[in-house]
Amino acid sequence: MSDLDHVMKVTTRPPIVFVEGSGSWLRDSDGREYLDFVQGWAVNCLGHAHPVMRQALERQAARLINCSPAYHNEQMADLTSAIAESSGLDHVFLCNSGAEANEGAIKLARKWGQVHRGGAFEIVTMEGSFHGRTLATMSASGKPAFAPLFEPKVPGFPKVPLNDLDAVAAAITDRTVAVMVEPIQGEAGVIPATDAYLRALRDLTRERGVLLILDEIQTGIGRTGRLYGFEHAGVRPDVMTLGKGLGGGVPLAALVASTAASCFEPGDQGGTFNGNPLMSAVGCAVLEMVRRPEFLASVRETGAYLVGRLRALSEELGHGEVRGRGLLLALALTRGDTGKIVEGALERGLLINAPRPDTLRFMPALTVSRGEVDRMIALLEPCLA
Ligand code: PLP
Repeated sequence: MSDLDHVMKVTTRPPIVFVEGSGSWLRDSDGREYLDFVQGWAVNCLGHAHPVMRQALERQAARLINCSPAYHNEQMADLTSAIAESSGLDHVFLCNSGAEANEGAIKLARKWGQVHRGGAFEIVTMEGSFHGRTLATMSASGKPAFAPLFEPKVPGFPKVPLNDLDAVAAAITDRTVAVMVEPIQGEAGVIPATDAYLRALRDLTRERGVLLILDEIQTGIGRTGRLYGFEHAGVRPDVMTLGKGLGGGVPLAALVASTAASCFEPGDQGGTFNGNPLMSAVGCAVLEMVRRPEFLASVRETGAYLVGRLRALSEELGHGEVRGRGLLLALALTRGDTGKIVEGALERGLLINAPRPDTLRFMPALTVSRGEVDRMIALLEPCLA
């Protein structure tokens, strides 16, 4: 058994050490297999050890791993072009984590407020939202458990309830520079912003002259069955952040902005690993695969199948609603301890996640098969019954 004593205890982890993965399956150091419906928290969109990612890594590692963010590289150019072209936005800053992308979005909005809105700096964010674990992104987050931590917080993030347009309208003042929202609140338990709300928010932010920032870190890159979550509502934000699925499992994220919002000047933003060729090459390979119409259609089909199986299970056992889109789904439970359910599933060889005490979240690889969905339901059923 590996020595785990020196791993800083920032979360509670089961005493399992994973050593290998393939597609929807993981193997631990004792040779036990697990069906993975967590996939790095909605990160491994192509599952474990996908050949497309392995080839991209191997090919790029043999050519150029890092040439410093002070210089251009081909993969940085290719990935930023692919993101701009597929999103309809213009400029892309590549970085290493979702929190870093959101921290960048906050800085960009504040800079935009200095340049275009008389020094406005407040960003209206949503109750229940999750934007990361840096001090500014924790301050922007509306996760109740964050409220007492690491005081004093970064100021300037008034919060309103999700899907309440009047509340946002009332919160926008001369100090406001942007409204920031997740198309689906993932960590809060898969709570969707409605399409009508997102459309109204687009109109409102335009009318009031403030930016609309969409945090697509969990919903982007095919997770909801469209390449970007905003496509369902038919709106385009001024600023968008990507992470998780963009690298398919390697640390890669992006801050994406329209020309009008893109106001950073040299010296405002940067970082040692930003836009490095190795991660960018993987991002190009992942994006090229996920954006194919047939790939996205299969995410929608498998998602609909998983919804059907979860609904049937829920009806049979007297549980609650199924929420979400594509392959970002949640099952509301009417009873039971989700911590124990997650533990019981693990003992049976199934990895699932409980973002809150009454909710299970399902975020499998976007390549998961119907057979694997059936297997998941068979493993989950006895845990819920
Ligand atoms: N934003 C959203 C919507 C997320 O779901 C997450 C992570 O779960 C983050 C931001 C933070 O991303 P990271 O953990 O890569 O910093």
